[in-house]
Amino acid sequence: MSADGVLVVVSGPSGVGKTTLCKNIVTRVPGTTFSVSYTTRRPRPGEREGVEYCFVDDAQFQDLVQEEAFVEWAEVYGHKYGTPKRALLEALHKGVDVLLEIDAQGAKQIMERFAGAVYVFVAPPSLDVLRNRLCRRDSDPPEDIERRLHEASDEIANFKAYHYFIRNEELLQATKELESIILAERVKINRLDPESLVENGLVEPVTMKKMTT
Ligand code: 5GP
Repeated sequence: MSADGVLVVVSGPSGVGKTTLCKNIVTRVPGTTFSVSYTTRRPRPGEREGVEYCFVDDAQFQDLVQEEAFVEWAEVYGHKYGTPKRALLEALHKGVDVLLEIDAQGAKQIMERFAGAVYVFVAPPSLDVLRNRLCRRDSDPPEDIERRLHEASDEIANFKAYHYFIRNEELLQATKELESIILAERVKINRLDPESLVENGLVEPVTMKKMTT
């Protein structure tokens, strides 16, 4: 098999449950990890430095942008968020599958740079359900919630840019769907290194040469 891990971009409106989904995958599926982003947003109650995010101020974020430390970054609802490049590439090169939980602007930037990545859109069952989830989270001011809902509809309309569409109505079902996507992507023919078939004695070198020339 190819040594590189699968880059799985999980995008969709804020409050749709992407973080919980990705956390579930990392606990259920060996060989997966979660990229920890940098953000200029303040920590919410219970969020820990270096676990949910690396929390930085505007000047620190700008320095990281200048150093080209991000594979993508975007301003989302008035705060900056960026995916650190080095940790991502190191994990992929070790053969670990990396989940990137990012907004639609970030997903678009990754689409321009990583041809082999898998793009998964997570949608709420309805905008009313999304509103309830955002209100229940009770951590963002009401004007932020309205802004997030307004943008959600535009993001959903762009579903065709993604490979998979998961409707997160029931968390366990959505987790199983994302898990199935990752497991199927791992065994895709285009990720198979033909040399490994020869090395494992599954195909004679001479036969492989005939098939590939
Ligand atoms: P929250 O503040 O609710 O944690 O995240 C707000 C939005 O920012 C979510 O849609 C989340 O997916 C997105 N986000 C988190 N990290 C990143 C990142 O590194 N890059 C981009 N582009 N978006 C991110």
